[in-house]
Amino acid sequence: MTDIMTPQQRHNCMSHIRSKDTKPELKVRQWLWSHGYRYRLCVKSVPGKPDIVMRKYRTAIFVNGCFWHGHDVVLLPPVKTFHETSLQKTSIQQIANSQCCKIPKTNRDFWVAKIRRNQERDLQNYQILQENGWQVIILWECQLKASLLEQTMRQVEVQLHDYFLRTFSRKAKPYILVDEEDLPMAAEEPEEYGLNL
Ligand SMILES: [Zn+2]
Repeated sequence: MTDIMTPQQRHNCMSHIRSKDTKPELKVRQWLWSHGYRYRLCVKSVPGKPDIVMRKYRTAIFVNGCFWHGHDVVLLPPVKTFHETSLQKTSIQQIANSQCCKIPKTNRDFWVAKIRRNQERDLQNYQILQENGWQVIILWECQLKASLLEQTMRQVEVQLHDYFLRTFSRKAKPYILVDEEDLPMAAEEPEEYGLNL
C-alpha cells in the first residue's frame, strides 16, 4: 500500500485515533481481529453509535466505562415521601456505589444526574437496536482487565454464533428426524467375548 500521507498528516491522524480509542475498546478490537472477526467502528447510522458493529452477526458491541455508564450502581430516582413528624415533603434518593463505580462525595448530585442520564440514553439506544433485530452486547471495562479478557471474549464469541444461528437459519429446512425403527439394522451378530457379562 502506498503511503500518501505526509509525516505531519500521519501524526495528526494518529493523534486523532489515539484520542478516540479508549484502551478497553482497543483490547476488544484486537481480540476480535486476531480471532478472525471483522467489524466496523463507530457507525454513525446505527443508533447510539456502538463502538463496534458486526454486520455479519447483526450485533452491536458497546464498550462501557464503569464510571460514566454507572456499572451496577443503584440510582433510584428520588422517592417522594413525608417526614413522620412535620409531614414535610422530603425526597430520598437510594444511591449505592458498586465495586467499579464509586460516585464522588463532592458534587454528588451532579454526578448522580450525569450517570443517570447516560444510563437512560444507553437504555434507549439498546432498545432501538433490539427492536430493529440487532443483538446488543455490553462489555464493561472491569470485564476486560487482563485476567478476565479471554473469558469475557469467549462469551462474546458464543453470543455471536448463537445469535447468528438463530437469526439466519430460520429459513433453512428443518432437520428431519427419522424413527429409529426405520433405520436399517446392522446384520451383525453380537460378538462373543468369552466374558460372563
Ligand atoms: Zn464494572
